Amino acid sequence: ASRFQVVELGPPIEVFQLNKLCLEDTFPKKINLGVGAYRDENGKPWVLPVVRKMEKQMAEDQTLLHEYLPVLGMENFSAASVSMLLGEGNPAIAEGRAFGVQTLSGTGSLRVGAEFLNKHLKYTTFYYSNPTWENHHLVFMNAGFTQPRTYRYWDANTRAINFAGLIEDLKAAPENSVIILHACAHNPTGIDPTHEQWEKIADVMEERKLFPFFDSAYQGFASGDLDQDAWAVRYFVKRGFELVCAQSYAKNFGLYNERVGNLTLVVSDSSCVARIKSQLTWVVRGMYSNPPAHGARVVANVLANKQLFDEWRDNIKTMSSRVMQMREALRAELIKLGTPGNWDHIVKQIGLFSYTGLTATQAEYLVSKHHVYLLRSGRINICGINPSNVHYLAAAIHDTVT
Ligand code: PMP
Repeated sequence: ASRFQVVELGPPIEVFQLNKLCLEDTFPKKINLGVGAYRDENGKPWVLPVVRKMEKQMAEDQTLLHEYLPVLGMENFSAASVSMLLGEGNPAIAEGRAFGVQTLSGTGSLRVGAEFLNKHLKYTTFYYSNPTWENHHLVFMNAGFTQPRTYRYWDANTRAINFAGLIEDLKAAPENSVIILHACAHNPTGIDPTHEQWEKIADVMEERKLFPFFDSAYQGFASGDLDQDAWAVRYFVKRGFELVCAQSYAKNFGLYNERVGNLTLVVSDSSCVARIKSQLTWVVRGMYSNPPAHGARVVANVLANKQLFDEWRDNIKTMSSRVMQMREALRAELIKLGTPGNWDHIVKQIGLFSYTGLTATQAEYLVSKHHVYLLRSGRINICGINPSNVHYLAAAIHDTVT
């Protein structure tokens, strides 16, 4: 008998299981609206042209070695990431109280940030939106947090933010609670607070002494504009908040499997920076010792070169505009079919995802009857839609809701 007989089978991860089912499905018109990755107008994964170009250049570069990076990663990569997030001329950067460390994509940033806050600031309570990206809970619990709480976010009736509920929940949060905030393109709902709503959120968080932990997984990808997508984070910094922000380059650079991320920290006193970095070093040292170089080099090189940076911004525009066009196309098809219900929310939402308002039963029916793969929450990845399948998709949704 094996000593491993004690191991129980863990539950599947819904989004990956759905993806596997879809890949195994041989039905020619199947549609994959599950896993959150970009697909082009032919339904194919897309390597950004600027990334291909940089990788070719790097392949020829004999000076690039495979030596270890420092524990906190590439400094020029992190500096460029902080600038991209806060804006180049941000006073917090000039004052030496904003800095970054390279991490393993967005997830790794969340984990390192959370573990640091738990170990060194002794924070134990965290709040995430209901609903949120399904991994926030697990990452924070594994990092040592013990008090998971939620704040209201999605109102199923209005298919919009339950803003009164959100504010009420934040007002009731104990001091020093860590509040996870989606910087833009809220996953899974696709609904972001307005500027006025962000201002109100900041008021309450300031008054209640809550700590903002931004999760920025889609900068540039949401609106097509890097500055617009960073508005909320920059606003909080301008208001004088100390905060951390997990940045991912999975979506906006299409570097999903390279695990390129950055954790930005903004503090009010630059004299704390060296001490914070020294402790982050130990957090990372005990977790994975040091990060990988390839993807971070690609990003750092592109961000550092004016011409490549502009090319990258065009690549981002290509992706974000296609997403917006497909939102319009799906809504138009549903209206054309006379599908019952109001579908305006599909075009009001932003980013990769749309919370369609379809129920779990309807989602399951779409999978089993129509080979349209979506999560039971009714979340769809808009990138799975293209001009060739939008009609089939709308007809499937029509059949499901009628
Ligand atoms: N946060 C949010 C809100 C996300 O949607 C994602 C990606 N699905 C992540 C973090 C982390 O992604 P990654 O670790 O691949 O960068």
